[in-house]
Amino acid sequence: MSIPASFLHHLTGSMSEGAAGNPTGVMMEAAFAHHDLPWRYINMEVPAANLAEAVRGARAMGFRGFNCSIPHKIAVIEHLDGLGRSAEIIGAVNCVVARDGLLLGENTDGVGFLRSLEPVLPPAGKEFVILGAGGAARAIAVELALAGARHLTIVNRNADRGSALAHLISTRTSAAASFIEWNKPFRVPNSAHALINATCVGLYRPNDLPDVELDSLRDGSVVADVVFNPVQTRLLKEAAARACTPLDGLGMLVNQGATAIQHWTGITPDARVLRATLEAAMGV
Ligand code: NDP
Repeated sequence: MSIPASFLHHLTGSMSEGAAGNPTGVMMEAAFAHHDLPWRYINMEVPAANLAEAVRGARAMGFRGFNCSIPHKIAVIEHLDGLGRSAEIIGAVNCVVARDGLLLGENTDGVGFLRSLEPVLPPAGKEFVILGAGGAARAIAVELALAGARHLTIVNRNADRGSALAHLISTRTSAAASFIEWNKPFRVPNSAHALINATCVGLYRPNDLPDVELDSLRDGSVVADVVFNPVQTRLLKEAAARACTPLDGLGMLVNQGATAIQHWTGITPDARVLRATLEAAMGV
């Protein structure tokens, strides 16, 4: 089998279906088609034990890059030649880019969020509350801090994870950060410009709501959710009803894809094409 040099390999440990059955794969291929790029984006299931061989295979076959998802986001790092700035601070890679014969690790999770946020709230000098301290929260916190956010409050049930994230931000970026243990309904401080749900609360459960006092959502503030299924989470509906600006998780997903395409091809894809394709593929 001959594989063109521009062949693109999507390496994933969680999806066993081909791109045709996967909304993200469909979105990426639609962007390539829209921009007349003869590229392919293919989902492959790689067991953790085969990761090293899979990365070697990607190098050998001249792949231009690949995404990787859980459980490969941290494990892949030892197989790469270098890391982008935010990926190094976050300590996780979801996008690998082949450049000048090297495989470089980037993290597009937080960048995707940032790009979706910027049109409604440029983060420089602002104060944010982040619910959660897992992978998504970590990526978002680091990107907000690198983009000049003034203060981040990390709110999490698990105190070790939450305080570690606040410590990471305070020591590795110029933003200030504090941690609040989430053991009772959380009251969003009036000074916060945005509340970000970076937990999985609400995922596939349209009636679930993070444990937040809804009357503390400030009129005019931004309320963002990383959960993208359902797109209109209960938190976002409650926020809209209180004159907040809701920001859905689909925007983050779309902009992650757009950022990856930009890394691989140098082209800035039309995010509207990605979003429309994703919405159609998800049936929303
Ligand atoms: P992790 O497992 O790394 O982290 C989960 C986080 O959610 C932890 O902070 C955990 O708290 C918290 N959590 C879970 N259940 C509850 C609960 N009932 N109450 C309060 N906190 C809770 O997951 P990820 O960070 O990888 O993913 C989180 C969400 O982000 C998922 O829904 C995922 O789909 C979404 N996501 C969306 C993306 C997008 O592009 N829109 C991209 C990446 C992720 P604790 O530490 O206390 O256990």
